[in-house]
Amino acid sequence: MIFNRIRWSLFRVISYSIVFINILTFGVFLYIIAPYTSYFFLNDLKFWKHLSYFHKIYFNSISYLKSIVLKDSALIISHLPLSSPPMDSPNLKLFRVSKDWDYPDDSCGTCSDCCHFLGDCCFLDTSRNKCLCYGSLFWRYFNCGRFPTTKKQLDYYRCPKYESIE
Ligand code: SF4
Ligand code: SF4
Repeated sequence: MIFNRIRWSLFRVISYSIVFINILTFGVFLYIIAPYTSYFFLNDLKFWKHLSYFHKIYFNSISYLKSIVLKDSALIISHLPLSSPPMDSPNLKLFRVSKDWDYPDDSCGTCSDCCHFLGDCCFLDTSRNKCLCYGSLFWRYFNCGRFPTTKKQLDYYRCPKYESIE
C-alpha cells in the first residue's frame, strides 16, 4: 500500500511539473513530449490525431491556475492529496447514484455542469455531450473521475446524478 502511495504521489508530482514546464515554455513542451501528452490526456499514442488540443490544454492550464486564485479553490483542489488513488467514480461510501437518475450509472446523460468550472473544458465535445478523455490517466488521477469529492462540490454544481450518503 505504501508503495502505491509513493507511486501515485510521484506520478502527480511529475504531472504537475509537466504542466508547470509547459506554462513556462508557452505551451511548447507538450509538443516535445507529444506521444505522452496524447496518451495522458486522450488515451491514445497517435498524437498526430490530437495536435489541435495541445495548445487548448495550455490555455486551460492557465484558466485552472486563475480559478484557483480567483474562485473558491476548495471546490477543486483541496481534496486531492498527492497520494490518493486513481478513481473512476466518487467515493461510494460518501455518495451514491440518485434513485431518480434516469441514465446508466456510467453516464452523465445530458448533464455536463461540472465540466464548466474553468469555462469550457477543451475535452468536452459539446455536440455529443461527451468527455473525450474519459478514463484517461488525466481523468482518473485528477478531479474528473472522482467527482464529487465533497458535499460542497455536489451542492455547488447541483449534480443531478449523485447524492450524499448522510
Ligand atoms: S454535475 Fe453530476 S451529472 Fe452533471 S456532469 Fe457532473 S457528475 Fe455528471
Ligand atoms: S470530465 Fe472530461 S469534459 Fe468534463 S471537465 Fe473533465 S476532462 Fe473536461
